[in-house]
Amino acid sequence: MILGKPLNEDMNLRPIKYKWAYDLYNQAVANTWFPHEIALGEDLDDWKKLTEEEKHAVSFLISFFNPAELIVNRSLALGIYPYIKAPEAHMYLVKQMWEEANHCLAFEYVLETFPLDREKIFSMHLEEPSIKAKEEFISKYLNNMTDKNLDIDTTENKKTFVKNLVAYNIVMEGIWFYSGFMVALSFRQRNKLRNFGSMIDWVLRDESLHLKFGINLILTILEENPELVTEEFSQEIKDIILQGVNLELEYNKKLFPKGILGLNSEYVNQYVKYVTDRRLEELGFEPHFKASNPAKWMSTATDVFELVNFFESQNTSYEVNVRAHKKDEDSDKKESGDKE
Ligand code: MN
Ligand code: FE
Repeated sequence: MILGKPLNEDMNLRPIKYKWAYDLYNQAVANTWFPHEIALGEDLDDWKKLTEEEKHAVSFLISFFNPAELIVNRSLALGIYPYIKAPEAHMYLVKQMWEEANHCLAFEYVLETFPLDREKIFSMHLEEPSIKAKEEFISKYLNNMTDKNLDIDTTENKKTFVKNLVAYNIVMEGIWFYSGFMVALSFRQRNKLRNFGSMIDWVLRDESLHLKFGINLILTILEENPELVTEEFSQEIKDIILQGVNLELEYNKKLFPKGILGLNSEYVNQYVKYVTDRRLEELGFEPHFKASNPAKWMSTATDVFELVNFFESQNTSYEVNVRAHKKDEDSDKKESGDKE
């Protein structure tokens, strides 16, 4: 059983029981990157040419993302790690936590590079109702897990665990983050902020593994604890996801108060609904919105289906090659950029 209080006799990596967790750990290590590998300063000229609406959108995204990275870590440290028995899953979680810290620094790098008011951006998540609502949603589910005497072996508490897992992983990482990534990458799609786009690619590659880990963990727990699988509980899970979607729809209205060329809240929210349907399907539900993907260009950059199929292949060497290839490509780009 993956879910339970870890005991000393569990602290033995071999034999590996959950190969998917060990494989994801190795993929994550192969994906290691550092923010300063990206020449963000090269985007400064683009930044100066952005409209106020566009600058607002980037600032608003970072106001949510930067604290969100650390909130995910709190959820992992307090709500997930203490209730997992498998060392291979602990190893993955530690790597994920490093990645979230790295993402936090990546967004700090954006704040240092572009002329943005760090204090103003930071205080926005404490004041802006649509961001506060998202953070409160996550805290509500995490707080149910932080009682020191919580007995994880009861059916009720196992359900509480899964609900917190669904909130931070499926809703925050799998829906809210993807919505933000699409907006961030849409600048590159219009030939702006291309290095920022590369950084988002790397964050997204990490997040897609976080999501894969979370989905595998949910499905493993349900498989090993069949008493949890009731119609009522399924409905509860689906409701959590749909509540999370509503919060994102509101947030995106504030992200684009007027809308910018080719991008407005309706467009982003259609993408949110499309991505939500993918998440529901990955958990074994029917799609809810039946929305088509308005951002077809995302499929060449980072298609959700492609990622899922890719991870199912469980071929870690392929990921390493992608990384090596990508590095070559990026340094080619940098070199040719320097010569021009
Ligand atoms: Mn992250
Ligand atoms: Fe993450």
